[in-house]
Order: sequence, then structure tokens, then C-alpha cells
Amino acid sequence: NRRIVLARRPVGAPTLLDFRLEYGPVPEPGDGEVLLRTRYLSLDPYMRGRMSDAKSYAPSVAVGAVMVGGTVAEVVRSNHADFQPGELLLANNGWQDYAVSNGKDLMRLPDNLQHPSWALGVLGMPGFTAYMGLLDIGNPQPGETVVVAAATGAVGANVGQIAKLKGCRVVGIAGGAAKCQYAVRDLGFDACLDHREPDLAGRLATACPDGIDVYYENVGGKVFEAVWPLLNRHARVPVCGLIAQYSQVPTADAAPTPDLRPQMLRDILTRSIRIQGFIIFDSYGNRYGEFAQQMGEWVAQGKIKYREHLVDGLENAPQAFIGLLEGKNFGKMVVKADA
Ligand code: NDP
Repeated sequence: NRRIVLARRPVGAPTLLDFRLEYGPVPEPGDGEVLLRTRYLSLDPYMRGRMSDAKSYAPSVAVGAVMVGGTVAEVVRSNHADFQPGELLLANNGWQDYAVSNGKDLMRLPDNLQHPSWALGVLGMPGFTAYMGLLDIGNPQPGETVVVAAATGAVGANVGQIAKLKGCRVVGIAGGAAKCQYAVRDLGFDACLDHREPDLAGRLATACPDGIDVYYENVGGKVFEAVWPLLNRHARVPVCGLIAQYSQVPTADAAPTPDLRPQMLRDILTRSIRIQGFIIFDSYGNRYGEFAQQMGEWVAQGKIKYREHLVDGLENAPQAFIGLLEGKNFGKMVVKADA
């Protein structure tokens, strides 16, 4: 049983030295338990938070413990009446080949699923995040302008495509020309800006002549700063993630930056802006069925396109994860564990 554990807590951006590959025996399922083999492991930005011991909405991974993660896993042996060997399930095996479960955290994959790994992306947690954050908090109306960054990623690609289905003008922000081209040509965005090129604020203002009604926040940092002045009266800002900040290290000797809070509060008041954060399963766990039904239809009808960035081999998960935080993924990052 290969398992990748947290070797130490990273300071700043994670490196390969923060992970360790270990080998151990395959665990034995007890009464009422199943033995699962990981087929696909989802890599997601939230894992950076679990590597840290800073207080957050979920407990940290202990140093020496297996990294957490959602998986598509196959039942190898079952002492549980509900699960049969050979079945594929949505599980939380983490970054390892085998795990034992008592069944409480297992979910069946959607019926007739052609690509099981899609249950970790468009038809799973990231798709659900895009769907609820955009529709419930963003409340996009036909003709409105929606902006989303990390626009070709697991969440962002769905945000933009759903906003198009709702009749909005959609402007994406992504890293590099190839991603921007894909967002416009394949995903149907109206425009997409490369955040690595100069003058993002100026280019965004040009791309949003009527201002911004919904800003779906995935990133923070300079993207947020470019967006803020363009938010219209009654704009909505679902705060989903702040990936630009996850590996930031506060330094005591950093140059003081201007305190933007008073001006932001004034803008929120005078422009009646609504900002709301959410943690998908905490905030919307009871609406999963609605999402699964609707997204399943859209994908089957070809109305939502999906791109995966598949990495072969569990042992390559650390490098792939480091790449995810640097924008090296093009689409939803998934590891095929048993390549
Ligand atoms: P993605 O597939 O979008 O991958 C991450 C992307 O972030 C990279 O590809 C890169 O895209 C972009 N990125 C990284 N650093 C920066 C930076 N400094 N500035 C701008 N862009 C950057 O990941 P997900 O779709 O899985 O996650 C997107 C966001 O959603 C994350 O913030 C994540 O934490 C959040 N999230 C929140 C959930 C919730 O419940 N609130 C649930 C799931 C995800 P590019 O090259 O285009 O810049």
C-alpha cells in the first residue's frame, strides 16, 4: 500500500520535501467495513489549507498522516451489506492506494457515468461549488456581466458556462494565452484576459464596458483589486476561494500597504454590494441532489464542456499538487492512481 504523508508543514509554497511516500500493509476490513482501492484521486486547492496548522473550517492533516482527498475507489472486499466487490464509489481515501471505510462517507457514482473520474470534477464537488456559488449567491440575470478567474479550472470553467446558459456576458481571467483561447473558443466565454500580461485593471475595464454585476471570487490578490472598482450598484460577490493568498507568508518587515478597508466598506455601502463567502458542503450539502440532476442533464446535452488534467501515478501527486497551485494544470487536476 503506497501512501503519501505530510512530512512537514510548508512555509510558503509547498515543495516536494513537504511530502513523503511510504509503503505499508494493505489494511484489513473489519465487520461492517469495506476495503477500497483508489482509482482516481482529486487534487484540490483546499489541500494547501489542510497542510497548515492555522485555524480554519476543517482540521489540519497531522504531520506524518496521509494527505486527505476525495477519490473514486473500487470495492475490493466487502463486509458491508450495501457494497459489492467491483463497485466504483465516491470515497475519501486520501493520497493512498488502499483504505478501509465503514460506508458512512461513501457515495454512489451517478448512474450511467461514462467517465468515473468526472465525479471528482464537473459532476462532483467542484461542479457543485460553481453551481451553488454562482446561482444562489451570484444570482446572475440575463444581460448582466459576470467575471470569474481561474476561468479554465475545475470551478471557474463551470461558473462561466453556467452564466452563459443564464444569458450573461462572461469575462474570464486565466493564466496564459492557451487557457484564454480555450475559454473563448471552447467554453463560449465572451472574453478572457491573461492575468500574467500587464495592466489587467485597464484591460478588464475595456472588456466590461457596462461594469461588473457578479464577480465570482476564486483568486483574491491583484485580480480582486482589478475587479473592485468596476463592481456595479447591487453587485454580488460569491467568495469561493483565494488561491493567490493560500501560500502567502506574512512577514514582519513587509512594506506597509495602504489600509483599503475604510474605502471598501464605503463602496459596499454606497454601491449596495453584497459579498458572501461559502464552504460548499457546509453551506449547501442539502442541495446536492438538485445540482446532480441539473448538471447531469447539461453535461449529457453537451451544454457544459469539461476538461481534465490527468496525471499518471499516485507517486506523482505531490508534484501535480504543487503545479496546481502554480497554474500548471489545464482543467480539473486528477491523479490516476494505479497507472
Ligand atoms: P483550479 O482547477 O482552478 O486550479 C487552480 C487555478 O488557480 C490554477 O490553475 C491557476 O489558474 C489559478 N491560480 C493560481 N494562483 C493564482 C494567482 N496567484 N492568481 C490568479 N490565478 C491563480 O482549482 P479549483 O477550480 O479546484 O479551485 C478554484 C478556487 O475555488 C480555489 O480558490 C479553491 O480553493 C476554491 N474552492 C472553494 C470551495 C468552497 O467550498 N468554497 C470548493 C472548491 C474550490 P490560471 O493559470 O488560470 O491562473
